[in-house]
Amino acid sequence: MTIAVAGGGASGLMAAIRAAEKPGRQVLLLERQARVGRKLAATGNGRCNLTNINISAERYHGSTDFILPALQKTDADGAIKLFESLGLLCAVEEDGRVYPYTDQANSVVDVLRFAAVGRGVSVRCGCEVLAARRSENGFELETSTGAVTADKLIIACGGAAGARLGGGMSGYRLLEKLGHSCTELRPALVQLKTEGGETRALKGVRAEAQLNIFAGGRQIAEKRGEVQFTDYGVSGPAVFDISRDALSEKGTEIVLDLLCRHSEDEISGMLLRRAKEWPELSFENAFAGMLHSRIGVMAVKRCGLPPAGRLGDMTDGDAARLAASAKHLKLKVTGSMGFDAAQVTAGGIRTDEFDPYTMESRICPGLYAAGEVLDVDGDCGGFNLHWAWASGLAAGDSV
Ligand SMILES: Cc1cc2nc3c(=O)[nH]c(=O)nc-3n(C[C@H](O)[C@H](O)[C@H](O)COP(=O)(O)OP(=O)(O)OC[C@H]3O[C@@H](n4cnc5c(N)ncnc54)[C@H](O)[C@@H]3O)c2cc1C
Repeated sequence: MTIAVAGGGASGLMAAIRAAEKPGRQVLLLERQARVGRKLAATGNGRCNLTNINISAERYHGSTDFILPALQKTDADGAIKLFESLGLLCAVEEDGRVYPYTDQANSVVDVLRFAAVGRGVSVRCGCEVLAARRSENGFELETSTGAVTADKLIIACGGAAGARLGGGMSGYRLLEKLGHSCTELRPALVQLKTEGGETRALKGVRAEAQLNIFAGGRQIAEKRGEVQFTDYGVSGPAVFDISRDALSEKGTEIVLDLLCRHSEDEISGMLLRRAKEWPELSFENAFAGMLHSRIGVMAVKRCGLPPAGRLGDMTDGDAARLAASAKHLKLKVTGSMGFDAAQVTAGGIRTDEFDPYTMESRICPGLYAAGEVLDVDGDCGGFNLHWAWASGLAAGDSV
């Protein structure tokens, strides 16, 4: 039996390896880029956060009924054991994130590549699948290097995110042509643009913050973690995590609490004590030692207080306003840095059109899909690659 896998990324490599383990199967892995696993090699800032020990369906967006069977079959422990059996040592870090012990994403690509070749997968790079048709006995593929026929076909072409690393629309289009439908696609795990250029003065500053997202006055999401200010808006792990919610509606607002370990009363008390001890200091030093100096100055300016004014002139009302200013920095979201900058795609091919246990199409028998092309995306922290492994294994097992 011949099995063609379109896409040599995370899910395609895993599906091909598993499919080739069973005797009597010829597996052909077709990758349009010059090498397999190009995006994989860039994940986790070159370290590849390959799974997370806290894998659970709640960490994913999409239909839980669809996601759960694959996660039950391949949980975090199962993924780690599988990688160790392929020769990759793993290390668990903060928040349960799992990385290769080598700290190199390339090690993950290497072990998958070696395993694929070792199991007899025929890997064809520089080969783009341009079209796929159902034939009487299987599939006819038109590729950039010629025609290919296969009994079964796994589409593992990834999503629209990370275009420079191979992301694109190809997988959605191939599946649509085979009868499937796609939901709206949006960038997720992405930097956010905010209105007014207010963050420009803070460019490069990193801070711990509580982020609350509001839409039409209603709080829709929250997250505590690191925020990085940029000239266009905000970035950093906590922003990535809430970006999906922040982009879910137009006109959302992020409210940053930049002194989230203290109450407003505690902060205004600290400021008043400081004003009493050091009356000759200026307002621009009001938050010295409490906030990054540039954030401190911004908080003062937002209250309309003169940065050069004397701390000794601070009233109780000024202290309360300063504390509120540091704890409620409002930024209006105007958009994101787009699919090029995004780590993952929210939305994808409708999952009710696939069997969650086998990843086989309910519309086109013999057709399978795995990875980001499906309408499943996870939180930041190794959840997206875990979905690629789990769905790739399910498809490779059952094909
Ligand atoms: C910069 C960055 C960092 C990330 N870091 C992490 C992280 O640390 N942890 C985590 O869990 N997730 C991370 N992600 C997300 C994760 O990489 C993806 O969710 C995951 O790679 C999806 O796997 P996939 O197999 O569906 O797609 P991909 O890994 O993107 O693979 C798809 C492959 O198909 C190929 N292809 C596409 N169309 C065709 C075609 N028509 N014919 C032939 N080949 C085709 C592409 O070239 C590509 O190689 C990151 C993403 C980015 C962009």
